[in-house]
Amino acid sequence: MAFRQATIAVRSGLNNDEQYGCVVSPITLSTTYNFYDLNIPRLYDYSRRRNPTRDVVQKTLADLECGVGAIITSSGMSAIHLLCTVFLTPGDLVIAPHDCYGGSYRLLSSLSERKFCRVQFVNQTDKNALTTALSAHPKLIFIETPSNPLLRVADILDICSIAHEAKSICVVDNTIMSPVLQQPLLLGADLVVHSCTKYLNGHSDVVAGAIVAKDVDLVEKILWWGNTLGVTGGAFDSYQLLRGIRTLFPRINQQQSNAQSILTFLQNKKNNLQIRNIFYPGLTTNLGYSIACKQQKGFGAMLSFELNGDKVMLRQFLSSLKLFTLAESFGGVESLISHPATMTHACISEEARNYAGISDMLLRLSVGIEDSEDLIDDLDRAFREINY
Ligand SMILES: *Cc1c(COP(=O)(O)O)cnc(C)c1O
Repeated sequence: MAFRQATIAVRSGLNNDEQYGCVVSPITLSTTYNFYDLNIPRLYDYSRRRNPTRDVVQKTLADLECGVGAIITSSGMSAIHLLCTVFLTPGDLVIAPHDCYGGSYRLLSSLSERKFCRVQFVNQTDKNALTTALSAHPKLIFIETPSNPLLRVADILDICSIAHEAKSICVVDNTIMSPVLQQPLLLGADLVVHSCTKYLNGHSDVVAGAIVAKDVDLVEKILWWGNTLGVTGGAFDSYQLLRGIRTLFPRINQQQSNAQSILTFLQNKKNNLQIRNIFYPGLTTNLGYSIACKQQKGFGAMLSFELNGDKVMLRQFLSSLKLFTLAESFGGVESLISHPATMTHACISEEARNYAGISDMLLRLSVGIEDSEDLIDDLDRAFREINY
């Protein structure tokens, strides 16, 4: 019987314990497993290669993304690095978004400096730029949509179809949407990568990553290389991650609904000229709005805006907030605010930041599951404490 996503998130791997009938799948910490007999190993032999707790999360995530298998890795970055190792040889070209996650930008540019591969950062919402880039027959095209922190939306179906004509492998970083709001494998992607540190775990207490693949051949490759490189996720992290995934649906629903209320509040501030721009895929004025409607099941719980003012005002605003914590990362139950120019995107040169449109007045919100009225009161107080 095939279940719907929300049921899979809650029930995948339940009741799988033969010994005690545990309802919750037990954690297996053993690193090594005895052999039945000489030359007769069990399913599990050594936990770097395969671990029962990690297996349960891998299956859960593969099912949520409609893939055939997955690997859980030690972090989102190790998942992306693993992809590079599996698919690239020196000379191969990678196309990545010009406004991709700062860590991905750093990894890809550093690997290309070492001649591990070649990389080209392209504005993937610009069809001409993308077509030109694809005419160089990249081995891998890396898509991240909506992008971070400006929430630009790229058309996954469209990009995958032209990329496949150029014989490229399509990978989508689905961290910002989670499989609740977007399922890239159903839109033509070959692989999906996640930072499970964000929405999937959702409680800001695990660093982990994942790759989900659409066919068996790709799954075997990522599992083989994952073990060879030793980047597989630990048992504790896998256990915590599965616990987080149990509430993925209600969390995302509440976070989205809170984001919607905050958006309305911010639009008022924009009308009062306290804000210059708001970036959110659900705004009809957003360039990617129609694509978002087509490929997403919701607009998500991240939004960015530019404060109308200077650095002094920005500092006043941030220091007045009591609920929105100034911190990197996103996707947890608690609301966070970040300043991309000095935080997540500080490792990108000012020139590249400007090209990507990340101004010094840009702030990014990750909306949590607190009471939305408290969140709005908090922002409202901070606006009132700015000396205009
Ligand atoms: C956080 C993040 C990553 C990196 O994941 P880590 O778990 O921090 O290593 C990659 N891509 C996106 C979009 C992210 O937000």
